This record gives sequence, C-alpha cells and structure tokens, in this order.
Amino acid sequence: MLVDLREIVQEVNTAKDLQSALDIIVSRVRDAMNTQVCSVYLLDPDIDSHVLMASEGLRKSSVGHVRLQVGEGLVGLVASNAEPVNLEDARAHPNYHYLSETGEEEFNSFLGVPIIHHRKVLGVLVVQHREKRSFDEGEEAFLITLSAQLSGVIAAAEATGAIQGVSPSGQRKSDTSFNGVAGSNGVAIGHAVVVFPPADLDLIPQRACSDIDKEIEFFNMALEAVRKDMSELSSTLETRLRPEERELFAVYLRMLDDDALGKEVVERIRNGQWAQGSLAEVAKDHVRAFETMKDPYLRERAADIKDLCSRVLFHLQNRNVTKTEYPHDTILVGEELTAAMLAEVPKEKLLGLVSVKGSGNSHVAILARTMGIPTTMGAVDLPYRQLDGRELIVDGYNGQVYSNPSDQLRNRYREVIKEEEQLVRGLEGLIDLPCETLDSHRMNLWVNTGLMSDVVRSLDHGAEGIGLFRTEVPFLLSERFPSEQEQTAIYREQLAAFAPKPVTMRTLDIGGDKALPYFPIEEENPFLGWRGIRVTLDHPEIFISQVRAMIRASEGLGNLQIMLPMISNTQEVTGSIQIIKRAYRELREEGLEVRMPPIGVMIEVPAAVYQTRSLSRLVDFISVGSNDLTQYLLAVDRNNPRVASLYSSFHPAVLQALRYIVEQAHLENKPVSICGEMAGDPGGAVLLMAMGYDVLSMNATTLLKVKAVIRSLTFSAAKQLLEQVMTMDDAQMVRSCIDMALYNAGVDRLLRSSRNN
Ligand code: PEP
Ligand code: MG
Repeated sequence: MLVDLREIVQEVNTAKDLQSALDIIVSRVRDAMNTQVCSVYLLDPDIDSHVLMASEGLRKSSVGHVRLQVGEGLVGLVASNAEPVNLEDARAHPNYHYLSETGEEEFNSFLGVPIIHHRKVLGVLVVQHREKRSFDEGEEAFLITLSAQLSGVIAAAEATGAIQGVSPSGQRKSDTSFNGVAGSNGVAIGHAVVVFPPADLDLIPQRACSDIDKEIEFFNMALEAVRKDMSELSSTLETRLRPEERELFAVYLRMLDDDALGKEVVERIRNGQWAQGSLAEVAKDHVRAFETMKDPYLRERAADIKDLCSRVLFHLQNRNVTKTEYPHDTILVGEELTAAMLAEVPKEKLLGLVSVKGSGNSHVAILARTMGIPTTMGAVDLPYRQLDGRELIVDGYNGQVYSNPSDQLRNRYREVIKEEEQLVRGLEGLIDLPCETLDSHRMNLWVNTGLMSDVVRSLDHGAEGIGLFRTEVPFLLSERFPSEQEQTAIYREQLAAFAPKPVTMRTLDIGGDKALPYFPIEEENPFLGWRGIRVTLDHPEIFISQVRAMIRASEGLGNLQIMLPMISNTQEVTGSIQIIKRAYRELREEGLEVRMPPIGVMIEVPAAVYQTRSLSRLVDFISVGSNDLTQYLLAVDRNNPRVASLYSSFHPAVLQALRYIVEQAHLENKPVSICGEMAGDPGGAVLLMAMGYDVLSMNATTLLKVKAVIRSLTFSAAKQLLEQVMTMDDAQMVRSCIDMALYNAGVDRLLRSSRNN
C-alpha cells in the first residue's frame, strides 16, 4: 500500500485543476483499497454545505449536485468532529441521511475521514462497501495518511479556483480571503505585481503578454542560444565524456527542437501567456510526468528537463525586453519579498506588500513599517503566481489578503483608510510638543532608519535622535560591498540631517534572514549561525572600512554613536572596541578632526541579558534588540509564520528580561535604549517607560502614535500598570490588561490596535 500511497500523491500532484485531482483520488483510492465506492465531499462555505465533488461507485449524475448541510449526515459528523467514522452498517447509525440520487442504498459499510489543512476541515474522503464489514485498522490508517497528504494539494487547488472567483462547487464568489500574519499596519487597495527572484522556474508567475510575436521571437532567440551552448559544451567535453553521456547532449538538443518542448511553449505564448510563464508551465508538466514514471531511469530524466528549461530561462531573463510595469496602485506580491524588490518600485506607486514567506518580525516587514506600507506576511496558502494584475486588498492590521473584492468590501476598507488618514492628520499637532506624561515625566523618542527617506520622514515627525541606523540596508540594495568612500557619503547624509542630534549606527548585521546577494551565507540554522558581529569580526577588513567610513563621515558633526549587534560574550566587545579605536587613530593620523564615538552593545541574546552588568562596564550605552531577544528567549523563529502566534514580546519571560537589563545597566550608570519593534507599540512603550528605559527608538510612522499615548497617561499610572502585568503569567493576559488600561485612559481604538507582538 505504501507504493500506492506515493504513486497516488504524485499523480494527484500532476493534476491540472481541482476536479482532475479529485477524479484521480477517487478512482485510484477505490482500486487501491479494493472497495466499491470512493467519494470526496468538499465544504463550500458560500452555501454552507458539503458538496459531493467526485465519486467512483456512486451515480455519476449525482456528482456536483448532492449537497449536505453542514453537520448533516455521516459526512457532517466526520467533518464536525474532525475524526474518522468507521461503520459496519451505516444505515443503522442515527446520523445516516439517505441520498436517493446517489444510489448508495446498496452499500452498507462506511468509512469517512476528514480532510484537514492548517486545522481547517476542508471536506471528507469516504469509502463504502457493499458487504457489512468494518474497515480494518490498516485500511483506516491508509485513508487517514492519504487524506493528510492530499489536503495541501486540495487546499492549493481550491485557492486557485477562488482566485478566479469560484467556490469549490463552482458557485460564483467574491471576497476570497487568505490568512497571513500582520506585517505593517494599514490597508491598501490596488493591483498585484508578482515579483520573483531570477533563475527559478518554480517561482515564475503567470502574466499576460501584450506583443505575442515579439515574445515568440524572444523565446526562439533564447532557444537558439541554449542550442549553441549545448553543442559547444558537448564538443569541449567530447574527449572526456563516455558515449552514453554524449548521447545525453544529443537528447537535450532534440528536446529543444521546434517539434518538442519549443512547440508547446510557443502554443502557450500564442494563447497570450508571456514566454517565461509558458516555459515554466511546460517545464512543470514535463517534469511531473517524468517524476511519476515507474522506471527509475526515466524518473531521473525529470532533472534533465528542469536543467534544460532553466538554461532557456536564463537566456530569457538575461535579455528580458519586457520591463516590469508598476501601476500607480502597486501591491507587490512575492514568495519571499526582499529589500531589493521593494527598492525597484517607484515610491509613489507602492501601496502594499504581500509575502508568502516570513512573518511580522522578518526584516522585510520591519522595512515596510519604516516606510509605512501596509503589509501582510506569511500568506502561505496564497496561489500568488496567479495573482498578477488582479485587484487585491491588503489588510496589514489583521494579516489578511482579499482578491475579488465585492463593492461592499472595497467600500468598507476605503472607510478604514479614511479613518487612518484622519488619525494621522490629527496627530500632526503633536510634532512640536514634548513627549511627556500628564505628570511631566519626559521620555526620549528616537527613530530607526535604514534609508535616507526614513530620515526625512523622521525629522518631519519630530524625532529627537536616531537610535538604530540599520547600515545593512544600503548594503542589501547594493550589487557589491560599498566602498569606504561610498559608505562615507551614505553615513554623512544621515549624520548631517540629524546633527546635532545623536545618530546611532549599528555595524553591519547580516546573516539570519538578511543575506547579501553578493555574499551568500548558506547555513542549516542561520539564526544561530554566522550573524551580525560574528561575521564582521571574522572579516576585519569589512569591519574596519565600515567604522572608518562612519567616523570619517562624522567629522565636524560629532553626533555619531556606534552600536554592536548580536553580542554574546565580552570578547566580542573588547575585540570590536580595539578595531574601532584603531580606525579612529588612523583617521586622526590622517589629520581628520574627529572625536572617538560613544560605543554601545545590543542586548539581543539571552546570554547577554545575564551579562548586562559586565557588558555595561565595557561600553557607553546599552540598547535592547527586543525582536531578536524575543525570538531567542522563546525559541520562536521570528521569520516563520507557522509559529508567529507564539512570538510575543509581552511574554512574561521577555518582560522579566527587559526589566532586569535596565536595572543592571543603571547600576553602572549607563543609559539604556530599546530599538526593537516593541518600543513602537503604544502599549509596549508605556511598559518600557515604566521600567525606566531612557530612550525608545522606533519607526517614524509610529512615533506620533506613541507620543499621543504617553501624553494621555501619568507616569505613576504607567508604573502601576507595569506592577500589575509583572504578576501575570500569560502574554495574552498582559496584552488585554494593557489594552484595558489604555481604553480607560481614553486612548483611541486605532492607537491601541497594533500588531500582535
Ligand atoms: C532587534 O533584534 O530587536 C533589532 C532591533 O535588530 P533587527 O530587528 O535589525 O535584528
Ligand atoms: Mg536584531
């Protein structure tokens, strides 16, 4: 049965749509289990019913017509309990509901298992038998395993249909929604542009082409180029290859013939699909066909096809004549959005972001927040490759994406956008007012930056300093390491714009989910690997040129502070200080009038928490990176949407650590700031102020919101709230308690509602 299982799953994977997938399932399962009936019922939420979508054994005429209300019949029982039902005599069961049009009265025994995807019951897979006999344990296990394996395929196929505006049973529908996690607050209504990294056939979106002839010509040129590559390669290797290996090249060349792969691709282009999309589809079909073959030799040929098509893709992409067009209301969609992809879109056109991978604490989401772009992350079920050009609504507050929006839904969201705009306008009056509580406790609000545009926005919002300049952002947007001179120019802009206010520059923090395209770091466990200070200490040439650029840029301004990321022991600090001092000495020797900048460490890993006091003795200030600290304390990958609900900076363990850090650093009279996202969460900011943090550093877009909330409370009320939450043992209780306190203080709903961190 194991072989059957694998084969069925593979065959279903090759199906072109939901109906064919279901037809394969019912016929193959009936044969494999040697029963008389196999059927699939799927839940159609638009009509609140389970619909018989495919069957082998029941009357064909009933397929697509038979419906059971939710909870009705044995199918309803399986779905509502999310458990198998195995009956020797189905008719004797009180839930049995006779469906005359199916002809099922002949069948006595019944085994139904739920089809569950991400905790949601999508439908029920049923087998029936004429004889009165219960299905044995092995059969039950087979059906459960199969249903678990198929659920993803069914969910994906359903979602694809939903994008076209139909529910599983073919009802017209609108407002198809997909769940993700909140990335950056706000709502955007616009049109999708699907972006993808180069050279990956699996990620090419479907896109209509406007000039079919040009696209065909373009494809033929790419084919010709590969043909040439292949024959060159074959002749260069002629003497070194065995005859059967040389034969492979001949096979490759034949595949490229106009009658083979090429013909199919051209046909698809003629139907209006662009060359890259047509090639990707043809490749997928052939690869899958080969992968399901029984003969292991032929199965392995799937890899050859993939390789060949990737070569064609390379030439197509290298000579791409069709530049991506960004509409005025672009919603950028991708499997894994990167900073560089964001940077490609003209600023005024970029309204929203949707990333299938990543979560609210991924760096791309943080970048989106600094830019104030509504974002949904981790929309894992989104068939994003089919979204190009479609209208979407991104709800960045709740981490939702809607396609096919109805007028009603669109209008509702337009209201939300208006409400948010009004709130922002209302807050502008606070720009020149101090950030102080009703009983005059003053709080320093600084900003996190990465791009020059953040600086402008920050000054417009009345920021009093930069608490974190993520220097890796310009590195991520560059095609190679920026030279010392180039870096100096970038840093100078930030320092000059803020002078005399302090600017805290963090040394290069790459690794984890931040990979430089020109310096790839491939690791099994990147968040526990070569990250931040570990990389720069291993590459002193990169480190010293960066700090030299920083210090040089500060000449005559004197407002630079340098901060070290991912510190986990004191040696990393002393080693870094030595390098910074060397850079300073060198520049002085060159005759520059610079001053030695204050140096700080980031507390981001649990080990550093417990060494706060020792670390404080070595440096001038401490800054807490609560994003990483939360992920490392809770062992929850900040980038993984599957565990996003476990990631909370309000977890009592995180709160204890945050309080301990301030106490310890203050014992050494060192100022403490926090630059993780928690500082920009109004509720989080209140708690951190009460703990005694000296500086809260956040995205410019949240600065006025935090100021409004701090100005509406007293410091003593904040301290009372802190004492209350410190006795709690659950993150959600802490959240609710803060929300209630802000509500009682009359804080606006939109100011209270924030990401779930
Ligand atoms: C943090 O970890 O809280 C932090 C500010 O650094 P980053 O988010 O860039 O890792
Ligand atoms: Mg960090």
